[in-house]
Amino acid sequence: MKIIDGKALAARVRARLKEQIEKSGKEVGLAVVLVGGDPASRIYVRNKEKACAEVGIRSYTYELPENVTQTELEGLLSALGGDARVHGILLQLPLPPGLDAKAALGRIPECKDVDGFSAGNLGKLVLGEAPIAACTPLGVMKLLESEGISPAGKHAVILGRSETVGKPLALLLLNADATVTVCHSKTNRLKEICRQADILVSAVGRPKFVTADMVKEGAVVIDVGINRDENGKLCGDVDFAGAAEKASFITPVPGGVGPMTVAMLLCNTFAAATEE
Ligand code: NAP
Repeated sequence: MKIIDGKALAARVRARLKEQIEKSGKEVGLAVVLVGGDPASRIYVRNKEKACAEVGIRSYTYELPENVTQTELEGLLSALGGDARVHGILLQLPLPPGLDAKAALGRIPECKDVDGFSAGNLGKLVLGEAPIAACTPLGVMKLLESEGISPAGKHAVILGRSETVGKPLALLLLNADATVTVCHSKTNRLKEICRQADILVSAVGRPKFVTADMVKEGAVVIDVGINRDENGKLCGDVDFAGAAEKASFITPVPGGVGPMTVAMLLCNTFAAATEE
């Protein structure tokens, strides 16, 4: 069994990107919009700012108060859409209650949608084109690629069907010739389906949701979940110790998919800057 080191891979990706940005001579900019003071969102935004600085991307952070109106938020996103310094726009989710995230995201031009959440970019994924794809699913694909794990012909089972993780990942894997099953809270015989997976990805958001009896001998296990266990410690969805005994490859939490998500955001931003 091999533990896939997402932290190390993300560091390599960032180092390569830094060189590419320097070589391009471009002034690359990412705007991050944060609404309200959610502590977890603040940490994510600070991490993204730090990562940008490390590779030479200029970050512009806009912190809006919790009581900002939909019109004001959409106005800012539209203005950033027309701002030549800004090549990528990221609206940190979730938004406080009362704000319409879908409508706000709709204000971000497709070419600056570095999160890959827009209808246009998701549509391109359905058409098998190469859009700006969502960062976490892209990170999962890079983790597989880094270990020489080809999805072609494999049965990939994804737990979770969110628009940000499960669905775009299903399309990326399908486009890479995997046979894909997407499970969710209404799925019958979930454990049985999981046991058929050559590649098992969990994006549910529950600690110890994936237990050893759900993992086929030799399966690749990718844990997207970010949770806190009963002691407040960061953990994924997978019972790591149990699953690791059966898996051929497994990602840890922390240090697996998480760092790759941020690295992919930086790559998407540079790609958006070079494609303008
Ligand atoms: P989400 O929108 O809450 O989606 C969770 C999915 O899990 C839903 O499709 C839900 O099914 C399914 N689910 C819930 N309970 C289930 C059950 N008992 N059996 C089977 N499926 C079940 O969450 P998300 O945004 O996709 O995120 C999922 C996890 O990944 C969270 O822990 C989040 O923090 C983490 N995450 C990590 C990263 C990273 O960079 N590592 C990035 C994004 C998210 P229904 O659709 O039927 O409700």
